Amino acid sequence: MVQTRIKVAVAGASGRMGREVVKMVLSDAELELVAAVGRSTKDTDAAKMVGMEPCGVQVTNDLELALVESKADVLVDFTTPQSAVANTSLAIKHRVRPVIGTTGFTPEQIEELDKQCKEAGIGGLIAPNFSIGAILMMKFAAQAAKYMPHVEIIEYHGDQKLDAPSGTSIKTAEMIAEVREEFRQGNPNEEETIEGARGAYYNGFRIHSVRLPGVFAQQEVVFGAFGQTLKIRHDSYDRAGYMPGVNVAVKKVMTYEGMVYGFEHFVD
Ligand code: NAP
Repeated sequence: MVQTRIKVAVAGASGRMGREVVKMVLSDAELELVAAVGRSTKDTDAAKMVGMEPCGVQVTNDLELALVESKADVLVDFTTPQSAVANTSLAIKHRVRPVIGTTGFTPEQIEELDKQCKEAGIGGLIAPNFSIGAILMMKFAAQAAKYMPHVEIIEYHGDQKLDAPSGTSIKTAEMIAEVREEFRQGNPNEEETIEGARGAYYNGFRIHSVRLPGVFAQQEVVFGAFGQTLKIRHDSYDRAGYMPGVNVAVKKVMTYEGMVYGFEHFVD
């Protein structure tokens, strides 16, 4: 019996994450790369661009045309916060299931995209982090917050990252907030003598964003209680580490309906 392959389009194909996605799709016999969309890069064979044997799919820069012509089943998007919302809507309009790795979506945007997915009768995923270690870090942090509700998050990324705080830290904060009764931590009379010193405020606790060259992606969730601290830390060293997660998402999204937010819902 011939198994139908899942047709995958990639937006941001020439970016750092997009190139890894192109490689991953081309290396999996169950997946077929049908479109690769960039912004400034075009007219290059997508496989050649990532150092593989040419595959006959050219990088183009018109996403809508690419989705329609390729009849893609799934769109994987690793672009920019400015482009990704419109790309996701466009995919849903053409009943192409979005698997979105781009970070920076607001809760209102996610809600609206969920509505669009349900109207179209398709599933989608917005996942600020596709790495299994990061998912575990978030789950362990939510577990710890039940017993140690005083918490701060410190996330570290390269200095060219556009959005702050990171999508992963926001997702972690949301998961902590679900189990932690909201209260404002710290001294009620504390004052910032330099604005921003205490970081971003979320439901009574703080998120700190470090941006430095040489850093890839790390996060620490630090809990404090009488006479003790607990640190849960995750370090990503390579973009390829996200690809097993993207692979699972591309296959599983075919069976969902509505927009799922967070890869942890796909790995239970
Ligand atoms: P990057 O190297 O800057 O790549 C982004 C690419 O998107 C660029 O090649 C850019 O093209 C292209 N692009 C921008 N707008 C586009 C559009 N409208 N249509 C098609 N292509 C477009 O960035 P990156 O490091 O790959 O990261 C991309 C996103 O993934 C960021 O939001 C990052 O935070 C996120 N991320 C998520 C995870 C996760 O696990 N979910 C992991 C790592 C990173 P030009 O170069 O021509 O402008």
